[in-house]
Amino acid sequence: MQGQLDMEGALTARDRVGIQDFVLLEETTEVAFISNLKKRYSKDLIYTYIGTLLVSVNPYKELDIYNKKQMDTYMGVNFFELPPHIYALADNAYHTMLTEFNNHFILISGESGAGKTEASKKILQFYAVSCPSTTLMSTVRDKMLMSNPVLEAFGNAKTLKNNNSSRFGKYMDIQFDSQGDAVGGHILNYLLEKSRVVHQNHGERNFHIFYQLVEGASDNLLQQLGLERDCQHYNYLTQGECATVPSINDKNDWKSVKNALQVIEFDEINTKYLFEVVASVLHLGNVQFDTGNKDQALLNDNTELQWVSKLLGVDAQSLQEELTFRKIEAKWEQVLSPFTTDHAIYARDALAKAIYGQTFTWLVHRINESTENKDASQKTVIGLLDIYGFEVFYVNSFEQFCINYCNEKLQQLFIQLTLKAEQEEYEAEGIEWETVQFFNNKIICDLVEEKHRGIISLLDEECLRPGDATDLTFLERLEEKMGNHPHFVTHRLADINTRRTLERGDFRLLHYAGEVTYCVVGFLDKNNDLLYRNIKDLMCQSKNAIVSECFSNMDRGNKRRPETVATQFKSSLLKLTEMLVAKQAWYIRCLKSNESKQPGQFDEALIRHQVKYLGLMEHLRVRRAGFAYRRKYEDFLKRYKPLCPATWPHWRGFPSDGVEVLVQHLGYLPDEYKMGRTKIFIRHPRTLYATEDAYER
Ligand code: ATP
Ligand code: MG
Repeated sequence: MQGQLDMEGALTARDRVGIQDFVLLEETTEVAFISNLKKRYSKDLIYTYIGTLLVSVNPYKELDIYNKKQMDTYMGVNFFELPPHIYALADNAYHTMLTEFNNHFILISGESGAGKTEASKKILQFYAVSCPSTTLMSTVRDKMLMSNPVLEAFGNAKTLKNNNSSRFGKYMDIQFDSQGDAVGGHILNYLLEKSRVVHQNHGERNFHIFYQLVEGASDNLLQQLGLERDCQHYNYLTQGECATVPSINDKNDWKSVKNALQVIEFDEINTKYLFEVVASVLHLGNVQFDTGNKDQALLNDNTELQWVSKLLGVDAQSLQEELTFRKIEAKWEQVLSPFTTDHAIYARDALAKAIYGQTFTWLVHRINESTENKDASQKTVIGLLDIYGFEVFYVNSFEQFCINYCNEKLQQLFIQLTLKAEQEEYEAEGIEWETVQFFNNKIICDLVEEKHRGIISLLDEECLRPGDATDLTFLERLEEKMGNHPHFVTHRLADINTRRTLERGDFRLLHYAGEVTYCVVGFLDKNNDLLYRNIKDLMCQSKNAIVSECFSNMDRGNKRRPETVATQFKSSLLKLTEMLVAKQAWYIRCLKSNESKQPGQFDEALIRHQVKYLGLMEHLRVRRAGFAYRRKYEDFLKRYKPLCPATWPHWRGFPSDGVEVLVQHLGYLPDEYKMGRTKIFIRHPRTLYATEDAYER
């Protein structure tokens, strides 16, 4: 069965629907690769394999391929027996986990809007629906499924690229017991884009939850929170000038979120605190300052501040002081030094970002408490990693730097694991491993993260340096230290042609996926992410239990200077990769079909770009470097035995001997194939095509 459908699907129908596994592509050129994707996309076949890696192209329309019937079809079926599908990958990971009793993870990558989050939801649904179930477990599953709308409300936003863009990285372990029941889940979150709370670019929105609350909450709740039912009223909601989006129904989404909060067992009081936090951020955004004598910041109107103080349960007078004065501890006394308006705005925005960011992490912890299965009995996991893809904007800042660094790390992991997996299969089959040529991006990872010498270390040093450190002195330090690094360039270091494309305040990294130019403005501030000490102390006293808990945790054991954002991110990525290395990897590479979010449009240039930076050709090369095609002896024999009188209609000996006789008869040259322990390895697809054509005749 396995061999037959695979070959029929992949080979004989190749002109009609393209090839369903790129490994069998006759030529491994980018042109052939993209033309195959395009052919399949035009037939609504959005999935294609490279071996066991799944490539998915966003259809931007609902396809009737995600129903229960499809789930049943793919359950317990071998990878290659049916057309490529995300369920096939999910099911194979699941069955391998059960038979080998090991841990797995599925890495879903791709650029914003490519379909990562949708893919991860489809996998979670597949496990929730298709795994065996008891009543108790179905409650846990409901909770895991319902954690999605809540986290999306707080962590997703409309951006220019995607109306539901995840602004945080997410890793979710789905825990299974030895019977294969999904018994729990655990989420790790990475670097929420907090800057969005206080600033949105044109055409973008703040996090969904703000609009949902304003549009959807009952009159009564709005009144309690001191809010108006009008998004236009809030500075933090209107900068992008698109508070309402035709395809988003905030009112309905509010209902789903409320319902989801109940399912994940948020009690009334926590729900109240949570909405108070959200409302307090909106009020904070409306706190305005006037400039008084000597540039001193003065509170413009007390009403909004009163609401903030009420919702956060902190003293209004103290809050006002913290937002308009810096307290300097002198020898015997505290001296109040007034803020300028800019400083006051900085302090206000820093507070809004801190409250929101901390609450988001708190939310993840609460969800984990509700879904995690702490039962010590043996469990295995399948982890789903839905993480931001490589980003290149017109202007790239600290956030893109972190995100692209994350992608370098994951590419590094991918290279290590893919090569390792290939090598292990060759060894298991007793076939000599041939070295594969590929670009190893370790050099770029080192450039960013190396201790004392990497960009992050230099950034931290500048952040800690007292006195006159600025974004530009940071750039100078980089130039000093990285001067002749092949993957680093600035205006000053560039040759005359490159110099034209660089501004003075920029540095450019040659990432594995391509060049990205970063503007250093804001790097120090964003990396420091400073919240004035006294504001922190004030928040620790908050009567809102979420706020006091978050801010007290933030401080615990960290009386000295907290770690910088980049260093924290680096450590969390290190932990993540260490954890992933120990698991068996599966990959889904999502591609965005077009920029206008339209069905049926296949933008070749856009696809080509993604194929390049997702390293798909590289992967294909590794996968095909030695032997492009491999199949179990039984399966190979079953299909092709009619081609040889000695094997037809029955071969009575070992399947491997039968295959040997068969390929000898077909005239395979010694260099074209190798006989492993359980499989035949064929070097080039053309050998197989010839055999297949003979079969067809
Ligand atoms: P980001 O990095 O911005 O979070 P993403 O890769 O997670 O992006 P998604 O939110 O998963 O992107 O997908 C964007 C949109 O594309 C979805 O809201 C949906 O409209 C459409 N889409 C994605 N995958 C599919 C699919 N398999 N079927 C139908 N529509 C899809
Ligand atoms: Mg997403």
